[in-house]
Amino acid sequence: MRYSALCFLIVCLAFTTKDSVAEDAAVGSPNIVFIFSDDHAQHAIGAYGGILKEVNPTPNIDALARRGLMFQNSFCTNSICGPSRAVILTGLHSHKNGFMTNRDDFDGSQTTFPKLLRKSGYQTAVIGKWHLKSEPQGFDYWDVLRGQGDYYNPVFLSAKGKETVEGHCTDVVTDKAIDWLSKSRDNGKPFMLMCQHKAPHRTWMPAIRHLDLYADKDLPEPDTLFDKWEDNAPGAKHQEMEIDRHMHMNYDLHLPLPEGFDPKTAPPSLSKAAFRNMNKFTDAQRKLWDAKWKSRNDSFANADLTGQDLVRWKYQRYVKNYLRCIKGVDESVGRIVEWLDENNLSENTIVIYASDQGFYLGDHGWYDKRWMYDESMKMPLIVSWPGVTKPGSVSNDLVQNLDYAQTFLEIANSEAPESMQGRSLVSLLKGETPEDWRDSVYYHYHEYPGAHSVPKHCGVRTKDLKLIQFYEFGEWEFYDLNSDPDEQNNIYTDPKYADRIAAMKVELNRLRNHYEDDSDFSEKPESWQKEKRADQ
Ligand code: CA
Repeated sequence: MRYSALCFLIVCLAFTTKDSVAEDAAVGSPNIVFIFSDDHAQHAIGAYGGILKEVNPTPNIDALARRGLMFQNSFCTNSICGPSRAVILTGLHSHKNGFMTNRDDFDGSQTTFPKLLRKSGYQTAVIGKWHLKSEPQGFDYWDVLRGQGDYYNPVFLSAKGKETVEGHCTDVVTDKAIDWLSKSRDNGKPFMLMCQHKAPHRTWMPAIRHLDLYADKDLPEPDTLFDKWEDNAPGAKHQEMEIDRHMHMNYDLHLPLPEGFDPKTAPPSLSKAAFRNMNKFTDAQRKLWDAKWKSRNDSFANADLTGQDLVRWKYQRYVKNYLRCIKGVDESVGRIVEWLDENNLSENTIVIYASDQGFYLGDHGWYDKRWMYDESMKMPLIVSWPGVTKPGSVSNDLVQNLDYAQTFLEIANSEAPESMQGRSLVSLLKGETPEDWRDSVYYHYHEYPGAHSVPKHCGVRTKDLKLIQFYEFGEWEFYDLNSDPDEQNNIYTDPKYADRIAAMKVELNRLRNHYEDDSDFSEKPESWQKEKRADQ
């Protein structure tokens, strides 16, 4: 053999050995099923408690919590859809992974946990909502909703191209996930399946079979439904996410369009929004949908509600539809867990339920997310890992979506890159809290100006305290979460708290440096003044 050919052979062998070592890492590792919804707040899950618990909204998710561990202090780093997903994939804060607002495109060439799992020998798949614009990378199989996805008859994109599937989105995504589990798994490898739902994202369109749920009763209202944001920094008064002033009667609440409605001549706010939902139905679905709403819409028209009565009515219709969408997601969790049980995969499969952020369910008078207040900063996170998580256990340790990538990699016996900014949750899943576990989390919301008009802000939260800085406007808020869990009393100027506020500012700076957040934190009072003037 000639010398050069020998060298070539040695190099080939070296690469082969390196690759096979990497692939060996996954042998014996458990499968991972990551069920992920969109905008599902902790306080709309029975196991987490809250005022909606009385209607038993999530029996299957609650059952998963009884099998595993529920993280009570689970938070996102940036409460908005696309950015939360990018944080989960990369283990990097938004300012590091570049997907800071929903307007961004995800740079798919980055290192992500699915890519590393696949390299270590996992079979990887993502089905359902992706919402990162660029094509999924790091998956053996991907079949994702186009853009935000539609509730009815959604369009999917996959390596094969575009496909429209008739049915309700939550059911279709679940069918596709079970179909992949049944027919496409490689039995020689562990798998990681991400089953990602559109529901319960706006515009809260449930499956027709769920439209009668909760129809015969009023659901409880949050104490802060008529919040006037008197204690908040001015930004809270200038948002555009109020049930009262901003929730759309047709687009959001599905009242029939006005007689003779023409999308070409209607005002832009009405035409764009209202028409889109109704346009997605088949004729048969539309008939069933309209029949379900007819008498309820007639009684609303006859009631002639105004003021707080109208807000209350809007809240009821909104939150009931939100919970009806969640009913579909809960059924999906039940179907997938049952399929794993029936196929003898439960023992070696970790099932995780999470959502990209929380949501306002009339809390503070709002819908939507974005703020660092707890309702939207908290994320549900429930993990069932047979033989590892203690059934029915609860963790109060502070965790973030930033931690998921490193957690998955440790589960897969695969090394996480040094650059990742979270921390593996595996020890917490075993019921052990490391002595040096974090006692604060960092938050940074970037999308301003933007939808719903929530100013940029960053902050630090501990188990007991929260400091928020609306840096462009030079405004601060500070809350004692033990005495004020609804964040109604901004005590930033209370001298009693001066020492604690100073300490929290030090911690905020420490975290900013630790996570290398070099965003522009300078004040921009001109833009604020302009907005305030426009609003007066
Ligand atoms: Ca979301």
